Amino acid sequence: MGKKEFLYEGKAKKIYGTPDPDYLIVEYKDTATAFDGLKKENLDNKGVLNNKIAAIFFELLEKNGISTHFVKNLSDREMLVKNLEIIPVEVIVRNIVAGSLSKRLGVEEGTILNKTVLELNLKNDELHDPMLNHYHVYALDLASPQEMAEIEKMALRSNEILKNFLLTKNIVLVDFKLEFGRHKGEILLGDEISPDTCRFWDAVSGKKMDKDRFRRDLGGVTEAYQEVLKRLQKAD
Ligand code: UDP
Repeated sequence: MGKKEFLYEGKAKKIYGTPDPDYLIVEYKDTATAFDGLKKENLDNKGVLNNKIAAIFFELLEKNGISTHFVKNLSDREMLVKNLEIIPVEVIVRNIVAGSLSKRLGVEEGTILNKTVLELNLKNDELHDPMLNHYHVYALDLASPQEMAEIEKMALRSNEILKNFLLTKNIVLVDFKLEFGRHKGEILLGDEISPDTCRFWDAVSGKKMDKDRFRRDLGGVTEAYQEVLKRLQKAD
C-alpha cells in the first residue's frame, strides 16, 4: 500500500486515505476519552493494544460469516480497512445491565437480561448520541428497513460469536457498541471492537477489564487491556 493521505482525526483513531479509494488506513491512538470527550487522557500503548484486539475480533467474525471492513493489520497501530459510507446509527448490544441502561431504567448493574437488548443511538457527540427507534431511522432516512434488518441480524449473530469465544477466555461480554456502513452495495461491520467499545468482566472475579476503568477512575486501564489481549492470544 503506497502513500497515505491524512483524512480525519477522531477521538481514538486517525483515518488516512490510500491510492485506492476503496480502502482506508485506520491508526489507533493512545488517547482515551469518555463523557463525549469531556474526560481525556493519554494512555501509553492503548492504541497498539486496541489495534491488535480489534483485529482478533474482526478475524473471528469474518471466519464465522460476518462481513467486516477489516482487511489486515499493517503495523502495531494501523489496520487496512474497506472504505465505508458509515450509517450514523450506533447499535448497542446488551447481555447484562450496566452503564446508561442501569441509570435510565433503575435496574441494578449486573442484572442478567432475559433477552438480548438492542438499542439504536444517533452517532452525534454534540447531541450526546441520543437514542433512536426505527421510526426515527426511517423518517430521517438514516437507513432502509432492509438495511436495518440486516444490521440487527449481524449484530445479534456477532454477539453470539463474541460472547461464546470470550467465555472460553474467562471473559463475560456485558455489552458493546457496533457501527455499520455500506460498501459496494453490501452492509459491512465497521469501526472497532475493543475494550474501548465493549464491557468485559472477568468471569471469576467480576473485575472490569474495559474502559469503565478509565471512566470510573479505577486505575490499571492499560494493564487490563493488556490482560484482555493476552487471554485472546492464548491458545486453548
Ligand atoms: N459505547 C461506545 N460508544 C458510545 C456509547 C457506548 O463504545 O458512544 C459502548 C460502551 O463502551 C458500552 C456499551 O456501548 O460497552 C453500552 O454503553 P452505555 O449505553 O451503557 O453508555 P456508557 O455508560 O458507556 O456511556
